[in-house]
Amino acid sequence: MKAYDLVACYGPGRRPTKPPTVYRALDFLIDLGLVHKVETDNAFIACPRPDAARHSANFLICEVCGRADELDLGMEESLEAIAARLAFRLDRVVIEARGVCAACRFKAGRRLVNDQGL
Ligand SMILES: [Zn+2]
Ligand SMILES: [Zn+2]
Repeated sequence: MKAYDLVACYGPGRRPTKPPTVYRALDFLIDLGLVHKVETDNAFIACPRPDAARHSANFLICEVCGRADELDLGMEESLEAIAARLAFRLDRVVIEARGVCAACRFKAGRRLVNDQGL
């Protein structure tokens, strides 16, 4: 969801609210780990596993339908080791892989078959 979609309907009585209100609420939810920012889309997604104690979120993002699936890649440990060796303070890791999800690939495949009259 984009921030302006939230601005449009999260005021009293589902009327528009002020952008700073939305950004403050999003910052708060991000700090709690309940929401992640999808950087490459400048969008926000509710965390499906907010109890998992991680400081990074990795996504597979579908270019067709916009679906973003959060993954646990387990890459943080090695990145942390590399950063520690370089005395680099790691605040946040963002891995966003873009492509086409299984559902969209399936739909595209069926369309191809129907277009060929099979
Ligand atoms: Zn998450
Ligand atoms: Zn898709």
